[in-house]
Amino acid sequence: MSDILVIAEHRQGELRPVSLELIAAAKEAGASSVTVALIGANAADLTGAVSVEGVDEIVTVPTASANFQPDEWKAAVEALIAARSPSLVMLPHSVDSWGFAPALGATGNYGFATDVFGIANEGGEWVVTRAMYKEKVHAEIDFPGKSTVVVTVRGGTWKPAEGSSSPAVSSLDASATANSSHVEFIEPPATGDVDITQAEFMLSIGRGIAEEDNVEQFSELADAVGATLGCSRPIADSGWLPKSRQVGQSGKVVAACKLYLALGISGSVQHQAGMKHVDNIIAVNTDPEASIFSIARYGIVGDIFEIADELVTHFE
Ligand SMILES: Cc1cc2nc3c(=O)[nH]c(=O)nc-3n(C[C@H](O)[C@H](O)[C@H](O)COP(=O)(O)OP(=O)(O)OC[C@H]3O[C@@H](n4cnc5c(N)ncnc54)[C@H](O)[C@@H]3O)c2cc1C
Repeated sequence: MSDILVIAEHRQGELRPVSLELIAAAKEAGASSVTVALIGANAADLTGAVSVEGVDEIVTVPTASANFQPDEWKAAVEALIAARSPSLVMLPHSVDSWGFAPALGATGNYGFATDVFGIANEGGEWVVTRAMYKEKVHAEIDFPGKSTVVVTVRGGTWKPAEGSSSPAVSSLDASATANSSHVEFIEPPATGDVDITQAEFMLSIGRGIAEEDNVEQFSELADAVGATLGCSRPIADSGWLPKSRQVGQSGKVVAACKLYLALGISGSVQHQAGMKHVDNIIAVNTDPEASIFSIARYGIVGDIFEIADELVTHFE
């Protein structure tokens, strides 16, 4: 069987775009059927958002909490696996999944792999690809003797599924297995900031800007060229820009982006997780060996301050 269960992820009532990437990955992996699970008190509201091409069925699993709770989510996925016996369960490789997927894999004795960016079915067995030794080695992993395999899938690897479908919708009652949660959900403070996941043109800055005083120059450049300002993690960690501007694995995926200008960003795998799907990446870096050039359509080996000065003159 090559039937796949995709666990959709949502936050504050919105479907996270990575859910659609997982659906695309499931389809590409040659699933005989793709079932999407919507877990949460109000998750059924997202039925329309996941009714995209390639989805055969949607199962809603109501929980006591509307917001993510690792204990409840784990119980819900266990109930789904017990009810549907999927051969592969796909979750986003996200902070939510990190909160319960390893425990799910261990207690269920399922095959398990994290941060997967390649999925194949070879003779009815799942074989997945993940990196080892800081991305120096790509390893193929199989799961002998496991009838169910659970994987967390790297964001930004597959293009989000599009189109529409009319999947069957059903509901699963997982309340019998739900444990009371040990986690309290605290509403994140509203930042009032832009949503970079919806920006079509991003200008992102990294540690190459050297110091906080230089942020202003690139903020003005972004305004001048009509881009949304983003950043790598060190810039957000230093408090030079809000966390909501951070692109990457522990930041955001710039899902709608069509043009990404990376200034003084080395191109770590964690940064790439949020942007490498973009069709048009332009990178500026003084280091010709910087990883960002391996995914850039256009690369400039040069100084970002000189390029910024030159660029802005064309928009004055
Ligand atoms: C669990 C985990 C999650 C993470 N999540 C994220 C994430 O979501 N997003 C993220 O970005 N990182 C994330 N990171 C951090 C990541 O590993 C890198 O440390 C980070 O992306 C590096 O940021 P950078 O490219 O700005 O800095 P650096 O790697 O220091 O690169 C700076 C670049 O600027 C270039 N440069 C310097 N001066 C100039 C100049 N004048 N002109 C042109 N180029 C110049 C340099 O050649 C260099 O390539 C995460 C790490 C971990 C462990």
